[in-house]
Amino acid sequence: MIRPIPLIAALPASTPFIGPERLMRENGLTELVRLGANESPFGPSPMAVAAMRGELETLSWYGDPDAFELRAALAKKHACAVEQISVGSGIDDLMGLAVRAYVEPGATAITSRGTYPTFEYHVNGYGGVLERVDYLENGAPDLEGLATLAHQKNAAIVYLANPDNPSGWFYGRDDVARFFAALPRTTLFLLDEAYADFADDRELLPPLFEDRLIRTRTFSKAHGLAGARIGYAIMSEAGVATFDKIRLQYGINRNAQIGALASLHDVTFSSFVVEETARGREEYANLGRELGIGTLASRTNFVCFDLNDVKRANAVVAELLRRGVWIRKPGAWPLDRCIRVSVGTASMRAAFATALRAILSEVPA
Ligand SMILES: *Cc1c(COP(=O)(O)O)cnc(C)c1O
Repeated sequence: MIRPIPLIAALPASTPFIGPERLMRENGLTELVRLGANESPFGPSPMAVAAMRGELETLSWYGDPDAFELRAALAKKHACAVEQISVGSGIDDLMGLAVRAYVEPGATAITSRGTYPTFEYHVNGYGGVLERVDYLENGAPDLEGLATLAHQKNAAIVYLANPDNPSGWFYGRDDVARFFAALPRTTLFLLDEAYADFADDRELLPPLFEDRLIRTRTFSKAHGLAGARIGYAIMSEAGVATFDKIRLQYGINRNAQIGALASLHDVTFSSFVVEETARGREEYANLGRELGIGTLASRTNFVCFDLNDVKRANAVVAELLRRGVWIRKPGAWPLDRCIRVSVGTASMRAAFATALRAILSEVPA
């Protein structure tokens, strides 16, 4: 009899993400306002689209396994060496490399309960032992709690998303630097900066190339290239060399490399996306005020509306879907009483607002 290895056989048949395509299939919907995965509603940069379209014929070639041109451009952007950049097919891919390379089976990995789930998914898949720390009551990741647990458990790795998903919370550079300094010397800090493009560079942790720090960035959010699957890690040269031993050499789509490079050069477009996103967040906050619902401050491309009650939040998600508006909600205390809504275009935001107003008059508080 053929059986998977015990580690894999014991994994629950779960998927961290249920896609909108399945929701549409299962609910008989032909159209959906996509506000559930923090995708960019503004699309990729027109320069990226043109560059990718222009190179479609060369998809018969593998992409550069060194992703050299893109890494060189990223190194320039981050004032570091090419050898300090590793490109992957999204942060989700890079997190898997980090866990595979640095977390032995049985070793401890620490994260916030209810945060972005792919880190946990990899820890489970590679046999690490997960330990979770609750968010603070105000929705912020508990830095003190994470650092304390890292010492108690002699953790191999600690994961933090900053700006955070699903809360939208942002810790400034001093807080993050203090947290990093408070971790054990033997703990790797995986700092997921998927939303860094929406924060001011001067507020992010300055460049640091220690072996125990990996920072991840993506083209999926502000650059609008989620479907192209491309992201990168900023890390020590030794770390990049380690990733080189285990990454799929041809794992990065050739066209994605081309699009990412063009997108990086289109600063006008990314500024437009960041400004428009800030406008959208403001509009959501105003909508919350109008409806008497609190919203959490966010430095991302989504906003959490605090419905004050888990059941009510679940009901609103279901009811929005019935009306063709797809959002998600956090799964763990204290954020599970919130719904998380991506910033859409003006018309998507209007569709959401209309549906929410109608629902709140029906779903009792
Ligand atoms: C969206 C998101 C990612 C996924 O990034 P990809 O590059 O698309 O894999 C990673 N981390 C966080 C916190 C995210 O919100």
